[in-house]
Amino acid sequence: MKIVQPTNQFDNIALIETDRYLHNSYSNFEDLIQTIKLAQSYVNAKNILGPKHPVKKFQYNSELANEEIPFNGKCTEQVLEELTEIFEGSFRVQSKNSMFNLIPNPLIDTLASSILMQIHNNNAIMDSYGGKSILFEQKVSRCIGKLIAWDKACGISCNGGKVTMFYAIKFAIQRIEPKSPINGIPNDLVILISGGAHYSIEHTCSLLGLGKKNCIRIPIESNEGITSEKLKEVFEEQIKQGKRVAAIISCGGTTIDFIHDSTKTIYETTQKIVKEHKLDYTPYLHLDSVIGWLWFTFLKTEKDEITALSDSEEITQKISCVIRKLEKISQYDSIGVDFHKNGLCPYSSSFFIGKDDTIISNDKLSEKYYGELRAFDYTIENTRSSNGIASAWTSIHRLGLTGYQDYLISLYKSSKTISEALNNNCLFNLIDNNSCGWEILFTINFAALKDKMGIPYSYNAIAETFIQYIWNKVDEGYDIPNFSIVKNYGEWFGKKQNHAFIIYNMHRDVTPLTSKSIAELIAEQAMLFEIEIINGNLIPSSQTLATPIK
Ligand SMILES: *Cc1c(COP(=O)(O)O)cnc(C)c1O
Repeated sequence: MKIVQPTNQFDNIALIETDRYLHNSYSNFEDLIQTIKLAQSYVNAKNILGPKHPVKKFQYNSELANEEIPFNGKCTEQVLEELTEIFEGSFRVQSKNSMFNLIPNPLIDTLASSILMQIHNNNAIMDSYGGKSILFEQKVSRCIGKLIAWDKACGISCNGGKVTMFYAIKFAIQRIEPKSPINGIPNDLVILISGGAHYSIEHTCSLLGLGKKNCIRIPIESNEGITSEKLKEVFEEQIKQGKRVAAIISCGGTTIDFIHDSTKTIYETTQKIVKEHKLDYTPYLHLDSVIGWLWFTFLKTEKDEITALSDSEEITQKISCVIRKLEKISQYDSIGVDFHKNGLCPYSSSFFIGKDDTIISNDKLSEKYYGELRAFDYTIENTRSSNGIASAWTSIHRLGLTGYQDYLISLYKSSKTISEALNNNCLFNLIDNNSCGWEILFTINFAALKDKMGIPYSYNAIAETFIQYIWNKVDEGYDIPNFSIVKNYGEWFGKKQNHAFIIYNMHRDVTPLTSKSIAELIAEQAMLFEIEIINGNLIPSSQTLATPIK
């Protein structure tokens, strides 16, 4: 066995010293930059072009069997080179063929801010540790809150959209049952959610101890969301069973179909039910706007101004449609924002934002001074990084309102360009899903299979086998579009249809040429796939695909 003796393990351990670069010596800071460059050179050396870093299937147990702490430390070069294995199988967001989901390609500035927090090892646990981290956290929250006329908005930086819902449900339970932090959750509480809500809500309820079965989905029939009638029906059924509805969580834009409930419908119907049944509580209203928050930036923009900005009636229609759904949002209690989805920030930079300043603590923020805020009094975490706070703040200031508007419009435009390229090829059928988002849904007309074999297999079996074929190739390192599949499209509207393919592009300024190449590459893969089936090398079957996107 070759033993590589470490040079000097402690050479670059002392990040504490990096602040010397502020004074007279740049040495440690330069060391850090050099070390990152070195690590990146090992990534570059792999010369990967596709939408994913290639990976070979592995089994966890056999990978882990011989794993232990090395007796002696290794040198920087060796460790960093070995580390790059971590990327195997991960997305390369830089690739034009990366179109799998809302996966960010962060701005340099938001990345730099996040890394800067790491360099200084800033802890957003409380004022005396993290300096103004909590103040900046509140600045971000206030800025977003003001878009929806919440002039006292406060918030919590957290690890993801799922955690924003965790906070919403937790605050809802605490509001209806103020003693629950001490006594636990009473068993007559339920929450109502939209039929189109993200799959992570049920698990969140289970983590909170509320229980999945107390998280009730209200059926929806279209991306227009929950109707007043259905809400009333489900709510009254719960009242009849002696339950109290602690919260109603509405959709504020989803990945597929951009399901968005009307905040006016939810608010007014809830008010009516409370009055009619003389309830001694009002359900907490949360909007899961982790994607939809970006549309808030248009709330104060006139329609003709939007048209002037977008130069497209269709895009204006979509934006206006979302804006209409936000009437009465000011009556809600909280929202969620994922800057790491469509705020050009790196992971993790989500925010739970509440309408008022009591949300983050039982005492009013307006009465606090520096030194008095302790995030751990209301956060799920104790120690917290300030990465998300810094990158979200940088995103807000770097882009401004008009920057966000341009970004959204450019995503719509890129998507339109890709749709047009698909539409020009008779292999693809676009599904018009009447979405206000920019996802592209389509089916593939596997014509060769039809001609040669009369298609003895179901479309869904072929579609599932095809997407697995694409994903296998992407995992092998092929530079082909990495898109996804929606199983039984329409299922959440109670109108189950065939599977649909989905392209989720996050690149701005996609050109017609790039779009043409995307369409051609998918067409080529479809042809190669058909040959494999015709030759009997592949047999279509319904796979047990984990639903990768929702
Ligand atoms: C992505 C998403 C979530 C979960 O967010 P994470 O950041 O992945 O935790 C919740 N709701 C909606 C609508 C989402 O799109």
